Amino acid sequence: MIVMKFGGTSVADATRVQQVASLVEGQPSPRVAVVSAAAGVTNLLLDAARGAAAEGDEFVARLTAEIRARHFAVADGIADDHERAAALAILDQLHAALDDALADVSRAGVLSARDSDRIVATGEKAMSVLLAAMLRSRGTPATHVWADRVVGTDDRYGGARPDRARTRELAALEVRPHLDNGLTVVFTGFIGRAPDGSTTTLGRGGSDYSATLLGAALDADEVQIWTDVPGVLTADPRQVPEARVVPGISYEEAQELAHFGAKVLHPRTIRPAVSLGIPVRILSTFAPNEPGTLVTREAPAESVKAVTALSNLMLLTVDVPELEDLAAASAAVFGALGGNRIEVVAASQASSRRRMTYVVDANGHGGCAQVSRRMKAALERAEVEAEVACEENVALVAAVGEGAAAVPQALSQLLAVLGRAGIPVLSTNQQLSNVALTVAVFAKDAARAVQALHSAFIGSQPASSRARRPRRAELLSESLRVG
Ligand code: ASP
Ligand code: MG
Repeated sequence: MIVMKFGGTSVADATRVQQVASLVEGQPSPRVAVVSAAAGVTNLLLDAARGAAAEGDEFVARLTAEIRARHFAVADGIADDHERAAALAILDQLHAALDDALADVSRAGVLSARDSDRIVATGEKAMSVLLAAMLRSRGTPATHVWADRVVGTDDRYGGARPDRARTRELAALEVRPHLDNGLTVVFTGFIGRAPDGSTTTLGRGGSDYSATLLGAALDADEVQIWTDVPGVLTADPRQVPEARVVPGISYEEAQELAHFGAKVLHPRTIRPAVSLGIPVRILSTFAPNEPGTLVTREAPAESVKAVTALSNLMLLTVDVPELEDLAAASAAVFGALGGNRIEVVAASQASSRRRMTYVVDANGHGGCAQVSRRMKAALERAEVEAEVACEENVALVAAVGEGAAAVPQALSQLLAVLGRAGIPVLSTNQQLSNVALTVAVFAKDAARAVQALHSAFIGSQPASSRARRPRRAELLSESLRVG
């Protein structure tokens, strides 16, 4: 059983949805297609939801008209009259429910996270209806299933956490029977079901996560993430033009890459696949014959497979004169960061120097002045003597690869490369996972650091994935190759 996920750009309009239908038909049954909303529709829905609370009816009506038009344009591509009419009837109900929900928000004058999720789910629901109708119109038996009947979550609206056991039970009831009846199931990404049955969402970009959650719940043989890039790349091609696709990476590498800023996968996506060892393949709808990237438990060991940069960070440095205060200082700082919901992207501690460094997400925390003040206050409350320094406009550059950090000389090589490029290093973080080496640099140096590390560790020779293009039929059984 295969789960295929198609992102917003892959289902942006009628032509693309047709292409997706043919990609779905190209895979053996049983199969599930998980869809995102058409590109831009989620943003339109969120704007309408916020507008309903803050702006007038006219503003909201303009947005809902645009949303309707996007869906109707896809419906126009459904050739069979009966299927098109049936899809339009469901779309009408969805759009009417959307209007009702927006009217509720407008009356209340505030947008709750719960209402927001109910509203924003419209985009995925509509797309599932459209793709299922498109498939049937082409002669492929298919049905849509909405994830707010299947993906059990908690009630943290806007970023709900899944309940894997509940999802398994519900998938057996709501999805499996359709597959057993020979139908292709078109499933909504992004959304879930709170314990009280209301609609939740998994957070922006969450459809990838939906695909692996459903794949795990159904014991899928493979989860395919069909997207608009040809796979996991060795670097961001805007920074490194010679970046190329990495044919194979491990679960751990994929997680580190997502964590350190590679945009290709939602950071939580890999987790559900790990425990069951389900392979995850990243493929491009725009180049469907390219082999993409295969993510598995064991991947070929290479020291560095990709280089990423994550910017908009701050570097906090805490110096503790008394060695015996280190533990208390670290507890105070971590407590204060957590209490203020400041995400720690990387941390390190050099006890010999009695120094701790934290690379933290700077978004919306009022800059170094405010963050340092909070840390100092926390250290004072803990009665620990410490110096706090803070640097803004910092980027974290990561060299990711199984074993990258395990090789003793890897860090010194990396520092030497940056030194030759004249890039000052603000701190280094040896990850415990042995999968990523990270260094903090000034944000202005990040692109140059990525380029220097890419050319030193990865180089520009074409990968064998370029030279050899297996046909789709080979893909499922093909064992992995590295370039
Ligand atoms: N449509 C949702 C979003 O735009 C989910 C997704 O695309 O994965 O965030
Ligand atoms: Mg998306």
